[in-house]
Amino acid sequence: MNNNYLFLFILILFFSCNENDDLKNDPITNNFETKNVIILVVDGPRMHETWFDSNRINIPNRVNLLREGVLISNFKNNGTTLTMSGHSSILNGTYEHLLNDGSQSPENPSMLQLWLKQSNEPNNKAWIITSKVKLKTIANCVNTSWKDQFLPSTDCGNPTTGTTDRTDIQTVESFKNILNNYQPKLVMINLKEVDAAGHNNDWNGYINGIKNTDAQIKEIWNFIQSSNNYKNKTALIVTNDHGRHDDNNGGFQHHGDQCGGCTSIEFFALGPDFKKNVTISTGNYEQKDIAKTIGLIMGFEMPFSDGKIIKEIFSKNIME
Ligand SMILES: [Zn+2]
Ligand SMILES: [Zn+2]
Repeated sequence: MNNNYLFLFILILFFSCNENDDLKNDPITNNFETKNVIILVVDGPRMHETWFDSNRINIPNRVNLLREGVLISNFKNNGTTLTMSGHSSILNGTYEHLLNDGSQSPENPSMLQLWLKQSNEPNNKAWIITSKVKLKTIANCVNTSWKDQFLPSTDCGNPTTGTTDRTDIQTVESFKNILNNYQPKLVMINLKEVDAAGHNNDWNGYINGIKNTDAQIKEIWNFIQSSNNYKNKTALIVTNDHGRHDDNNGGFQHHGDQCGGCTSIEFFALGPDFKKNVTISTGNYEQKDIAKTIGLIMGFEMPFSDGKIIKEIFSKNIME
C-alpha cells in the first residue's frame, strides 16, 4: 500500500514537471504589454532620402522618435518590389507576385484574417485603411479555406467615388475617426503621396511627400499616446512596401526590380515591448518577417508564413 502511494506521488510529480515544460513554450509567458498593433506603410520612399541620408534631413520627426523606438537599418523586401505585392507580403508573411493593378487577391490569408479567426473578435477590430483604392483587394485571399471569411474592415481610397484614390491627409483623418469609433486592435494604413510624386518624376513633390509622411507619423503616434484606449499599449510599426531604383538603375521615378534602391526598405517601430534608441543592423530581417512577429505579439499563429520572428527588436528575451 505504501509503495502504491509512493508510485502515485512520483506519477504526479512527473506530470506536474511536464506541465511546467509546456508552460515554457506558451507565448503567454512573454507577457507583452502591447495590446494593439498599427502598421503604417509609407508607399515607396527610397532609403537614400530617408534613413540612409547622412543628415536624415527629410525625416526630423522619425529622428526624434528614434529615442523611444527601434530601427533596423538593413531591412529588405526580397520579393516583388511593387505596391500590391509589397503590402500583401507585409500582411501575409510570404512573398507572392500579384498583378499590380489591384485585380488579384493574394493566395494566402492575411494576418488580419488569422487574428480575427483566432481571437474571435468582430471584424470592426481589424482594418485596412489606405490612400490607394486598389489595396482593398488584399483584404481577401484566394485560398478556398479562407476566401470571404474573417475579412477585416476596409476603408480604401475616396469613399465618395469608391473608385479613386484620396489624399494622405484624408486617410489620416479617417484613421483617427475609425480609432475613435471602433477601437480596432490591428490596423494597416497606407500613405501614397511619396510614390505618386515619384512616378510623376516630381523630385520636389517626392521630397515633400517624405517630409509630409514623416510629420504624419508623429501625428499618428501623438494621437495613439493621447488616447486612453491606446496609450502605452500600442505598437506602431513604420515600413515601406518597396523602395525605388537607385541612381544607377533608373533613378527615383520608378521601381519594381531587385536593385538595392528598390529592395531596401524601412523598419522603424515604437511600442512598450520594443527597444528604445537602438539601431539594429545584425540579423537578416525582411518584409515577410513582419507578420510572424506581430503574430507573436498578438498571440496568433501564422502557419502560411515562411518568415521569422524579429527577435532583436524586443526589449527582453522572448520565447517563441
Ligand atoms: Zn509605385
Ligand atoms: Zn530598382
